Amino acid sequence: MLVLVLAALLSVTTAPARPLLVTVDDLPVAAGGLHADAADRRRIADGLLGALAKHHIPAVGFVIWSHVRDEADRAILEQWLAAGHELGNHSDRHLNLTTTEADAWVADAERGRAGLDAFLRTHGHSLRFFRFPYLNEGDTEAKLEAARAWLDRSGQRNLTITLDDQDWSFEAAWVAAERSGDAAARSAVTEDYLAALKLSIRSAEAKGDALLSRPAPQVLLLHANAVGAANWDALFGWLEGTGHRFATADEVLADPVFARLPRLAATHGFSLWDRLAALEREADARRDVQQLLDAQSAAWTRGDVEAFCSVYAEDAAFVSPTGLTRGRQQVIDRYRRRYPGREAMGALTLEVLEWRTPWGMEVSLLGDAVPGGIHSLSLVARWTLKRPGSPDATGLTLIVLRRRGDGWEIVQDASM
Ligand SMILES: [Zn+2]
Repeated sequence: MLVLVLAALLSVTTAPARPLLVTVDDLPVAAGGLHADAADRRRIADGLLGALAKHHIPAVGFVIWSHVRDEADRAILEQWLAAGHELGNHSDRHLNLTTTEADAWVADAERGRAGLDAFLRTHGHSLRFFRFPYLNEGDTEAKLEAARAWLDRSGQRNLTITLDDQDWSFEAAWVAAERSGDAAARSAVTEDYLAALKLSIRSAEAKGDALLSRPAPQVLLLHANAVGAANWDALFGWLEGTGHRFATADEVLADPVFARLPRLAATHGFSLWDRLAALEREADARRDVQQLLDAQSAAWTRGDVEAFCSVYAEDAAFVSPTGLTRGRQQVIDRYRRRYPGREAMGALTLEVLEWRTPWGMEVSLLGDAVPGGIHSLSLVARWTLKRPGSPDATGLTLIVLRRRGDGWEIVQDASM
């Protein structure tokens, strides 16, 4: 254990620094309801920009256009630009794509784009990046496609995040502690905020490195809030001390992992690593089941009914036009009656026509919603039997599988 810890510490101090892009959501000020006062908003912006400047960080800020209330808020955006940061579109009203029709969502996101784009042009800048509100990219294939088509049409790039965290959740407690002048409460929030962020960053980085089999570049999600204004200096100092190097959007996004973003329809927003991991789990499940089907076809073709049926669950249900058979042994007996001998069995092929790999939400150890594992899988396949001297027999089958140890077993099979 000690050796592992030492190795981990050494790798932090000797490995080349890991590029990390800082992105900041909900400009001009996040949790604006808590910060109605212009002076308060300005003070938060000063704090955030001060911490970024101190650590020489080139950030990308994402603007909720309807939250830019007045000249004072425009001045905050100008301050970000003057400090060398880039501004991206975070929609007009921050609508949740999961709970909004695609057309209405696109219209809102486009209003945000048009507003910010005009603002940027008058300041000699252009708009490149988009950040999905709540990181929700679409809960259906149709919504996913509608959002992506709009991004392509309007020349914006989805700036995905890799390091998800709950920094926004500390804002109300921070503001309450600050306004009541309770120094002990303030330092308690600081302690919790930094601890939670460090854990989230560490755990997401381990996930990314495992997925890419190399130190993965990272995109950190922060919010433009008061708890950040007070604590980013400490956070950035910790990042510098733990092998990170603050990088530009262009440098980080040049990594091939950002070239083609995964298509994962989901009701909740996830980091890139969680999306990639979910798709990898899906691909793994299909590959494993495809291998199982191939082994089954081979067993059938060599006349081994026992091996063919070994992947059926003890309590499997088999449905055919002649009725319902329950139990693996009963399925074996049925096959033996209908196909007495290898010649009658012929050569079997199974061609999968469609897969379903449903998954739900799970909660990570850090309390984040993450895509859950795949515990069951169903498929539709065409089966074909080739037997010398007789015409091919063919039909369809619907197979439902569940996990058994490291593998899978068939629990239901409807063949016709
Ligand atoms: Zn947001």
